[in-house]
Amino acid sequence: MPKIVNVEEELPKNPDVNRVWKLRKSSSVDTIVVHQAACKGATTRGIAKYHTSPTEDRNNDGRVDAWEVNHLSAKGAPRICYHYTIERSGIVYKCNYHWDVVWNAGSRRINKKSIGICILGDFSGPDYDGKQKPTKAQLKALEELIWHLRVSDIWSIPDKNIKGHCDVKRSKKSCPGTIIMNFIEKTYRT
Ligand SMILES: [Zn+2]
Repeated sequence: MPKIVNVEEELPKNPDVNRVWKLRKSSSVDTIVVHQAACKGATTRGIAKYHTSPTEDRNNDGRVDAWEVNHLSAKGAPRICYHYTIERSGIVYKCNYHWDVVWNAGSRRINKKSIGICILGDFSGPDYDGKQKPTKAQLKALEELIWHLRVSDIWSIPDKNIKGHCDVKRSKKSCPGTIIMNFIEKTYRT
């Protein structure tokens, strides 16, 4: 069992209290989607802050510059857009509840039935040149977390439904990167 730190109530939230996740029955989960942060030095708190900040004219120059736009949603996401993050040390943070429909996969259909896990770091993949590799501790924690989710909950998650984000139609091909995709292939597809 990996070390899991519960931070569902501690991470930055959207400033609009009415902006909340849709809820689901836990039994509707049958998929895990693995992501990467694609940013060196990203922290769970930093990602949460970014995902939940509405687009605004932060430097008050009368126009919204590219860096001020929230790419997920102009109003910002309700909360961080993953259920779990895995930091470089291998520590796992639980960021949302399993009943939250989290916008992780870029597909409403997959979001409704998936658990999103983001591995922090900047990893290479198709058309993307990352600056880091996942740590051994992160890959070990990923495998243990998936095992833990599969045995301790009422879900039935078949091997083929353990996916990289790039397996979802029309998604970024560089997420979660080549090393993690090879790890998923080796662990769950052979
Ligand atoms: Zn992704």
